[in-house]
Amino acid sequence: MDIPQIFTITESAHRIHNPFTPEKLATLGAALRLERGTRVLDLGSGSGEMLCTWARDYGVIGLGIDMSQLFTEQAKLRAEELGVGDQVKFIHGDATGYVSDEKADVAACVGATWIGGGVANTIELLARSLLTGGIILIGEPYWRHLPPTEDVARGCLVGSISDFLMLPELLASFGHLGYDVVEMVLADQDSWDRYEAPKWLTMRRWLEDNPDDEFAKDVRAKLTSEPVRYVTYTREYLGWGVFALMPRR
Ligand code: SAH
Repeated sequence: MDIPQIFTITESAHRIHNPFTPEKLATLGAALRLERGTRVLDLGSGSGEMLCTWARDYGVIGLGIDMSQLFTEQAKLRAEELGVGDQVKFIHGDATGYVSDEKADVAACVGATWIGGGVANTIELLARSLLTGGIILIGEPYWRHLPPTEDVARGCLVGSISDFLMLPELLASFGHLGYDVVEMVLADQDSWDRYEAPKWLTMRRWLEDNPDDEFAKDVRAKLTSEPVRYVTYTREYLGWGVFALMPRR
């Protein structure tokens, strides 16, 4: 079981697989007022940077599940590197439908809401692992500017304009689902660059090391087109943020 190989090629050098910098991740942890012993569940935990750094900086106890073998291995190594191996646990597996035995103070799905089948269903899934008074974290894109055409949406590698909302509508949608938005930290264009631009150097180096790989043609084509595509579309039109939600009583 694994994710498509193109992601493990382009994002092999990433610690954070999202348009967040380490500073923004730390800002989010501080914003949530995490305390020593806070239990955090993370579905689609990637290379584990959120759980590992929050374990180091705030003393949280974390459980992460991710379908990528490589990212899960990297997460375990990172935990050792930061000396938090006894606080965080990473499982390689499919998080679809995952409900934890031990309920969490914070239940997160950051940039992987297809795991629950969309934002609303993922919130519902996370809620089943949440302690009363706990916080749900959703990392999700939104439109900074509404694409004028479907072609522009596709330029952002988004299937359709209707796949995402504008920020006010996204926040309103959480309300309609019965949740208070209690915090948020947003990406910006510079933090998007930190997610996208490292893929280019990673691809270039990978091509030099793997000229005869069956994926080399795809990676070559991607490296050729990605920088211009990214600055033309994604960087201009797509926003991203992590939203902290608490059920209304
Ligand atoms: N939250 C992490 C990773 C976001 S990228 C971070 O911010 O760094 C999306 C992640 O979802 C990838 O690590 C991918 O391997 C994982 N993923 C995709 N489908 C999954 C599934 N069905 N179950 C668990 N993880 C999944």
